[in-house]
Amino acid sequence: PTFTGLGLSEPILRAVAEMGYVHPTPIQAQAIPAVLNGRDVLGVAQTGTGKTASFTLPMLETLSGSRARARMPRSLILEPTRELALQVAENFVNYGKYLKLTHALLIGGESMADQKEALNRGVDVLIATPGRLIDLFERGGLLMNQTRTLVIDEADRMLDMGFIPDIERIVGLLPRMRQTLFFSATMAPEIRRLADAFLQNPVEITV
Ligand code: AMP
Repeated sequence: PTFTGLGLSEPILRAVAEMGYVHPTPIQAQAIPAVLNGRDVLGVAQTGTGKTASFTLPMLETLSGSRARARMPRSLILEPTRELALQVAENFVNYGKYLKLTHALLIGGESMADQKEALNRGVDVLIATPGRLIDLFERGGLLMNQTRTLVIDEADRMLDMGFIPDIERIVGLLPRMRQTLFFSATMAPEIRRLADAFLQNPVEITV
């Protein structure tokens, strides 16, 4: 298989080709068309399988096809650690280099004032760790009522790090009508329970 039949448009395919990717990985081949069709996805996949592109590429595609009136965060990607959030942001910038989409990285260890300022300017995508997102929300000015796509990445690590109450709270701030993409390396019963709570009729992909 190649990237061309997956439903991604030329500016994204060009960026992917420049990354040196020739063939989609198994999770990409299955997840990208499902996400573009608006489906929820439950992906059981480790890091290294190409799962980041499996959600960022179709997210970029969907966002680039619909311009919001004001720049409100339309997608939220939750990562358990700042390092993972930084990696996702780097991927987002690389894959989106021919698109005009913006993001804010909301992670600990960086200036809260700068992150607030980025939010005030308006962004299309938030890439966040749960604790910092809640801190910023509590300071006011973070509206997520236009956030139609939620990614919960590395759910098993979120669980290990005690982030589940934060995630439940964040999910409560988002519209009920949304697309949710949920990734975990394992499917322990507690993870399955979360997936059942957050996802609607998901496409299940195990790689
Ligand atoms: P991830 O599992 O998302 O952390 O990705 C693991 C690594 O694989 C990253 O360095 C990606 O840049 C790379 N990668 C992702 N998709 C592909 C692909 N289709 N072909 C080659 N490399 C890829």
